[in-house]
Amino acid sequence: MNLDQFKDLHDKSVGSEMYCLMENLYPICRSITGNGVRQTLTEIKKHIDLQIHEIPTNTQVFDWTIPKEWNITDAYIADSKGNRVVDFKKSNLHIVSYSIPIRQKMSLAELKKHLHSIPDLPNAIPYLTSYYKEDWGFCISHNNFLNLKDEEYEVVIDSTLTDGSLTYGEFFVPGFTSDEILVSCYVCHPSMCNDNLSGVVLTTMLAKELSKIKTNYSLRFLFVPETIGVIAWLAINEKNISKIKHGLVATCLGDPGSSTYKRTKQGKSEIDRTAEYVLKNTKSDYQILDFFPTGSDERQFCSPGINLNVGSLMRTPYGKFTEYHTSDDNLDFVQPEFLEDSYSKYLQTIFILENNKKYLNLSPKCEPHLGKRNLYRPIGGQKVSKESELAIFWMLNFSDGLHDILDISEKSGLKFEILLDAAEKLKKNNLLK
Ligand code: ZN
Repeated sequence: MNLDQFKDLHDKSVGSEMYCLMENLYPICRSITGNGVRQTLTEIKKHIDLQIHEIPTNTQVFDWTIPKEWNITDAYIADSKGNRVVDFKKSNLHIVSYSIPIRQKMSLAELKKHLHSIPDLPNAIPYLTSYYKEDWGFCISHNNFLNLKDEEYEVVIDSTLTDGSLTYGEFFVPGFTSDEILVSCYVCHPSMCNDNLSGVVLTTMLAKELSKIKTNYSLRFLFVPETIGVIAWLAINEKNISKIKHGLVATCLGDPGSSTYKRTKQGKSEIDRTAEYVLKNTKSDYQILDFFPTGSDERQFCSPGINLNVGSLMRTPYGKFTEYHTSDDNLDFVQPEFLEDSYSKYLQTIFILENNKKYLNLSPKCEPHLGKRNLYRPIGGQKVSKESELAIFWMLNFSDGLHDILDISEKSGLKFEILLDAAEKLKKNNLLK
C-alpha cells in the first residue's frame, strides 16, 4: 500500500456501510456453534469471498474438544394464563447460551433458580453462557424479575445439543510477500453491538477495502467463535503461524469512548510501536494498556507456545463500559462515526506496517550534495527549514540499517508520511536503498 492508495482508502467513508451490516447481523442468535454463526458468515460473504470451515464435534484441539453443536428455535416462560412473560423471540439474550431443551411446569421458587438479572441495571437483560456445563437458564431485566407473580409457570426451551460442528470463516489476501498481518474478530455473541459486532463489521470492511489494492504483506482475516474457535484455528494451522508477523484482535470499536491499545505480551514489537504511534498522532485521548492474560483472543495468540505479536486496538475495553454484556450494548450505543474513527486507525496502522522499512544510506560518508540533485533550496541561510527538507536530513543520517522510519519519526518528531515521502525521493536519487 503506497501513500496514494492509503489516501484514497482513507478518504472513503465506510461508517454507514459498517453500521448497516451491523443492523443486518444484530438480530441473529449466535453462539460458539450453530446456525447463527453460519448465517452471520453468509451475510459477511456478501462483502468478501470468505472461506467457511466446519470442524466436527469431538475434534481435539490442543487441550480442548470441539463441543456439541447448539441450535435454538424458541424459548419462553408463560404465566398461568398462557401469556409469555419472557420471550426469546423478543430478545435472544433472554436465554443462557447453550441451554439444554426443557418443557416443564414449575413454581416461581423453582423457576427463580434459573433466572438471572442485574439489580444495578434494572432495565437491562444480561448475557450469560453455559458452554461446558449442561444447564439451562433465562436472563431477564430486574424489573421483569420483580414483576413475576407467585404462580405456576410453563417453561419451554426449544433447543438442540447434538453432534455437529464448529463453524468459522477466513479470508486471505495474498501480498507481495508471504509474511502476514492478521486481523481477528469473534462471531459468537448474540445481539450485542460493541462487544462484539463492531469488530466483525470493521474487520469485514477493512478486508473488503484492502483486497482492492496490492499490499506488501499478505493479509489474513479471521471470523472465529471466541476462545474455542481461535484455539481450534491455531491447532489446525500451527505449522503456518510463524508467517504471522503482526496481528490485532478487533473488538469494542463503536462506542463513544476514546481508543485503547492493549499491547502484545512482548510489549515492544513493531505492532505495539505502530499502534501506539497511530494513537499518539490522532490528537484525541487514548490509553495504552500492558498485556494481561484475560480479555479476548489475544490471550491465545500470546500464550507461551504460540507467542505471536498480536495486540488489540479497541475503544473502551470489554468489561469497562456499563452496557457490556447486556441488552444495553445495542444499536443506539454504537454509532457510525465511532466505527469510522476506529476503522481509520486500523487502516493507518496497516499502512505504517506496510511502509515501516529500514533504509541504507548509499552515500554515507558525510552528507551527499543535495543542491545538485534539487533536494535542497537553492538559496541557503533561511532561518526555518521546511519539514520536507528536515525529513531528508533525518532519513539520510539515520538510514544506517539500524533505524526504521518509526524510530526516526520518534526521534525527529516528524510525521511518518513526511519521512516516507523523503525516503522515496532519496531512493529515486539513488541515495537510499
Ligand atoms: Zn464478550
